[in-house]
Amino acid sequence: MINVCDINVMKPLLAEHGFHFSKAKGQNFLIASWVPEGIARESGVTRDVGVLEIGPGIGPLTQQLCLNAGKVCAVELDNRLKPILDLTVGEFDNLEIVWSDVLKLDVPALVKEKFGDLRPMACANLPYYITSPILTALLEAECFEAVTVMVQKEVAVRIAAKPGSADYSAFTVFCQYYAEPELLFDVPAHCFLPQPKVTSAVITLRVRKERPWDIADQDIFFRTVRASFAMRRKKLSNGMASGFPELGKTGAAEVIAACGFDANVRGETLGISEFAKLANEITRRRQA
Ligand code: SAM
Repeated sequence: MINVCDINVMKPLLAEHGFHFSKAKGQNFLIASWVPEGIARESGVTRDVGVLEIGPGIGPLTQQLCLNAGKVCAVELDNRLKPILDLTVGEFDNLEIVWSDVLKLDVPALVKEKFGDLRPMACANLPYYITSPILTALLEAECFEAVTVMVQKEVAVRIAAKPGSADYSAFTVFCQYYAEPELLFDVPAHCFLPQPKVTSAVITLRVRKERPWDIADQDIFFRTVRASFAMRRKKLSNGMASGFPELGKTGAAEVIAACGFDANVRGETLGISEFAKLANEITRRRQA
């Protein structure tokens, strides 16, 4: 197997194929083999698992996943990488490459088509310019057992943040609604070519089999969350009144009181069960 993380192998390989990194496609390739090895090991991928990899690049993580998984389906946008991937991962008969923009794919349909009875998981060193849309698509697909990804460290910290902390955001609530996050390890910038400006981190999201909240209307729930974070430094009632204009300031205050929360409560201190309570109260009033 070609060690594609070895800079003395990678550089001539790229040069031979006239390949130049595309910043627009978020191309920062791994040059430290402990990183893809660590991602594959920590992801829990085994022979009974089908893995969707996003952005194989020249294949460092793909190689590790193919060694451990039942099947790997890797989606890559940049078809200039085809002749290189033929050399670096062509030997694996449990690999299929789909040449496409992952955001244009029907992920649940792809998973069903490619993985059959295998347990579906997703794994990637994500292109950072579209981290949030890809994670959103992977979680909303509701078909993976776990999603293990490398992202900018500040994004990983945000995903795993606790209520009341500076990093807690609407995106935190979105991710934790679907999954339980665990920060795995940091990856310094010198592990990539070209080097990004930021530190990266690997995080695993174990998708919840059952969500422990009784939420009457999921759309209202996510509207409530967005409204609650829209005016971070103001009282929750201000954000709620602007996110739900039909409630007005009085209605927003009534909803907050009906849930038993302090009138001065701030949205960023609430947990998912509290957002669920607010959302259910709004749903109840809309149906009354
Ligand atoms: N997995 C390789 C590694 O770790 O060295 C490459 C990771 S690089 C950060 C991101 C990869 O995602 C690149 O190969 C890039 O071409 C690919 N990519 C970017 N946008 C994409 C998209 N919308 N759909 C699929 N792949 C994409």
